[in-house]
Amino acid sequence: MTDGRDLARQYLEQQRRLGAGVVLMPASVVGDRGQGSGVRGQSTPEPGPLTPVADLPPAGISFEPPASDFFSTDPIQQASSLDAIAQLIAPCVKCRLCEARTKTVPGEGAADARLVVVGEGPGRTEDATGRPFVGQAGELLTKILAAIDLPREQVFICNIVKCRPPENRVPQYDEIAECVPYLYRQIELVRPRVILAMGGTAAQTLLNTKQSLGALRNHTHRFRGIPLIVTYHPAALLRNPNWKRPTWDDVRIARRFLD
Ligand code: URA
Repeated sequence: MTDGRDLARQYLEQQRRLGAGVVLMPASVVGDRGQGSGVRGQSTPEPGPLTPVADLPPAGISFEPPASDFFSTDPIQQASSLDAIAQLIAPCVKCRLCEARTKTVPGEGAADARLVVVGEGPGRTEDATGRPFVGQAGELLTKILAAIDLPREQVFICNIVKCRPPENRVPQYDEIAECVPYLYRQIELVRPRVILAMGGTAAQTLLNTKQSLGALRNHTHRFRGIPLIVTYHPAALLRNPNWKRPTWDDVRIARRFLD
């Protein structure tokens, strides 16, 4: 028969491997005062009140759940198509951006796109039409894509937030936090070969960083394993045409992942 001390040792070792900082043991195992006064012979310990045993090694294993949890009941995680996500976005009231919106702008394009373009959030024309990047900045984006032989229809184009921020202000942290699970699921479903993050909000959100756009450009990053290239936002290019050349360079780098 196994010695009770062996069983206790195995139990504590198992708890330590599972990352437990504090292990709860029946008082019958650790003694009345919780000082580990000994396991009683060979017999199975009686269940009793639980007493903490401290001083175990710190947890060394992270249990952060995987990106898509097989057992999730979250409707966003369960959405199995881009249309299903758009249907979840349409009535969304998770943040204050719903108050002034005309239409939600979930994103559009090919469900099997090799490139996903991510902007910041809908502007006035996008809010009125429910379509991403259809205003002036959108026209420029369409030209940029054409320059690398990518018709707009072959790309999936979307934004970090799906409702227009009032006066086109930058979306706030809590608005992004509520909205970004839609985008993550969209990317998960499309599984593009490369992501083009246009502007600081898109880049910083997807890369979970506060680094500046300047620092993030000129590197191939990864979002959940997918190469991600950072470049200027088309609206910024309209204001500062000097950035067109570097944008062209970035977009050509992104293009290389498609071949
Ligand atoms: N700017 C964006 O970031 N997204 C749009 O859809 C339009 C303008």
